[in-house]
Amino acid sequence: MYRTHDCNSLRKIDIGKDATLAGWVHVSRDHGGVIFIDLRDREGLTQVVFRPEENATLAKEAHTLRSEDVIQVAGKVAPRVPGTENSKLATGEIELIPNQLRILNRADDLPFPIDAEIHNEDLRLTYRYYDLRRPELSRNLRIRHRAAKATRDFLDSQGYLEIETPILSKSTPEGARDFLVPSRLMPGKFYALPQAPQQYKQLLQVAGVEKYFQIAKCFRDEDLRADRQPEFTQIDIEGSFVTPDDIFKLTEGMLFSIFKATRNIDIKTPFDRMTYREAVGRFGSDKPDRRFGMELVDLSEDFRGSSFKVFRGALDAGGVVKAINAKNFASLTIGQSDDLTEIAKTFGAKGLAFIKVEGGEWKSPIVKFFSDAEKAALKSKLKIEEGDLILFAADKWDVACEVLGRIRLRISEFQKLVPDQDVWDFLWVYDFPLLLWSAEENKWNAMHHPFTRPKAEDVALLEQKEKFPEIRAEAYDVVLNGVEIGGGSMRIHEPQLQAKMFQALGVSAEDQQSMFGHLLRALRLGAPPHGGIALGLDRLVMLICGAESIREVMAFPKNNRGMDLMTQSPADVDPRQLRELAIKPASEKKAKSDAAQ
Ligand code: ASP
Repeated sequence: MYRTHDCNSLRKIDIGKDATLAGWVHVSRDHGGVIFIDLRDREGLTQVVFRPEENATLAKEAHTLRSEDVIQVAGKVAPRVPGTENSKLATGEIELIPNQLRILNRADDLPFPIDAEIHNEDLRLTYRYYDLRRPELSRNLRIRHRAAKATRDFLDSQGYLEIETPILSKSTPEGARDFLVPSRLMPGKFYALPQAPQQYKQLLQVAGVEKYFQIAKCFRDEDLRADRQPEFTQIDIEGSFVTPDDIFKLTEGMLFSIFKATRNIDIKTPFDRMTYREAVGRFGSDKPDRRFGMELVDLSEDFRGSSFKVFRGALDAGGVVKAINAKNFASLTIGQSDDLTEIAKTFGAKGLAFIKVEGGEWKSPIVKFFSDAEKAALKSKLKIEEGDLILFAADKWDVACEVLGRIRLRISEFQKLVPDQDVWDFLWVYDFPLLLWSAEENKWNAMHHPFTRPKAEDVALLEQKEKFPEIRAEAYDVVLNGVEIGGGSMRIHEPQLQAKMFQALGVSAEDQQSMFGHLLRALRLGAPPHGGIALGLDRLVMLICGAESIREVMAFPKNNRGMDLMTQSPADVDPRQLRELAIKPASEKKAKSDAAQ
């Protein structure tokens, strides 16, 4: 037996008992020949004290111990010397006086100290097996486990079956690039790793499973922006004969269980709901952070007859004039002001008009163009007071909203508007547009994915291209504190409607058959009405843990270049492996083309 207790279990009532502990030397201190060891395992710390006067040989051996050596100690639980108790430690009233020490393994020089904050993330990821010993990370893994378990228990209680779907699957058009896996048995052909089990979970509904879920690995070969990973985990759910209300209720219940199990918090359900139009119109985002105000105010009606050309021009072109009031921010720095202008330009505005309210005056190059009535409207609608900064956007609705939405978020960072204490603001955003125009590809794309149902009232609009922007989808996202933590929709279960949707997306009849033949056939065999949702487990656990990045809640994440620094992957492979797959190594191809030149 390696141990009788873990390192977080001995207390005052155990004084006098024998105990055996095993773990890592967290810290060792030599106080005039007396060796104090903080022994650590995943549960916590226990102080172990080797006194030469009690056991000289043992104390001598203990003297050789270094941080992260793995040891086993057996001895008696004793009270700490009065005055040396540590109230911050659960085991702080006792210590272990060993009569046996076994060194189970020595640790080499350490890549970095375990109890310090390390800012070099690449170094941490290279030694991830060591980094994970840090208490915060071990806590995060535990919370993640609790979240996954609560998910399974809750969904099981609702009759949902956990069903695995293939990892070697077929390319699905979820929007991102696929990771491809070459087939050796069928040279020249490829599997794709699933971006999400979307088609499989729908096919399981055709199969009569009715209630499916999976904690599913998903793979997307995207350029790694900010906090993305090439592989991540979804809580994937699909049900038959369900309405959006059913999915909302199920998701709320599941999130309630997850928060209870991980943080012992009773989150407020049901969550508020907001249409996409309202969310974007009021907050400039389809994932509004409502923990602070600074809402977008529409001024279009007030400036319809304005002599200020910039506003009037935008309105005449069918756009809008909107503004936000950043309270007490008239004193922003030049750097901050440049930053906001840069954001406006990045998101499509030509510039950023503003008014600073200082010394009782409206300081701005544009105020001179405003009539008294316009000024009065501004003052009352934006509740303008001394010290305020008013920022405007005059553009197409979506551009104006996005620009002000992004600026609103940046100002909230500058002004630290998000409260420190735990606020869990959940929100459903629904009635998303079905289709999105891609100027780049010169075609309509599905905003969610091609299997999402248009709202019954809007189905007829699929016949009229000019009405495409107005078609609403039976789709929804669940948002927490301004972060999208999940999204889903009711699906198309009629083959004719699915074909029409593909047509709207510019998928030819031939491609429909080659790419989606299986789905269209399945829909013809009595597919029930169905729908579902998928939640990003990594992001959800990150928010629950209060972590800064999803990498902090994944055991072995890739770095921001998509590399696993620990195993040095991606890596070269043996040319023989490539030959078996009928793939030419890049070096061979290069040699050939060099020879040809
Ligand atoms: N499969 C979708 C996604 O990953 C979610 C869903 O529609 O259920 O975004």
